Amino acid sequence: MAHERLLGAIAALSEMVERSGLDEPRILSEARDVMADLVAVDDWLPEELARPHPEYYRQYLLYGDPRDRFSLVSFVWGPGQKTPVHDHTVWGVIGMLRGSECDQPYRQTAGGLEPAGPEKTLAPGELACVSPSIGDIHRVRNAYDDRVSISIHLYGGNIGRIRRSVYSADTGQRKEFVSGYSNTMVPNLWAPPG
Ligand code: FE
Repeated sequence: MAHERLLGAIAALSEMVERSGLDEPRILSEARDVMADLVAVDDWLPEELARPHPEYYRQYLLYGDPRDRFSLVSFVWGPGQKTPVHDHTVWGVIGMLRGSECDQPYRQTAGGLEPAGPEKTLAPGELACVSPSIGDIHRVRNAYDDRVSISIHLYGGNIGRIRRSVYSADTGQRKEFVSGYSNTMVPNLWAPPG
């Protein structure tokens, strides 16, 4: 198990958040570089944190910064699974590890919500960003109806504990939610390779 790749990304992100005075564009630029390296090779995600659920997409916490400055999550899509329309309230970088997902951005209008541009499809190794300043509302789905897809998500906070919103795609009506995590144990990053 090549935990070194994951541990290296966490070390780089920890170093980044220790530096003061970084504005969001700089953070997103540096975080994208780290995430691009992380999803460049699909050989490191532990099998237990890559398992789909027959009904629901899974969000497995890979690492949570002790001071909630960032969190890293594996997002596992079963065939045909999709999120509701939702926001994040913090910056995020999504890196496609396996399979493919489709991302439809939305914007709020006086009457509700409207698509903010076309749906984008992420191929393995590709990245997408969200944040309140660049567009924070979207709906994401597995591009495939017959196979699992996995993306790795980095957020500028502990995403599983943040109060945020899901939206009715029709009316734009908001409902508060906290997403939590599907796993109760995080990976042992220090396990010997093998
Ligand atoms: Fe999202």
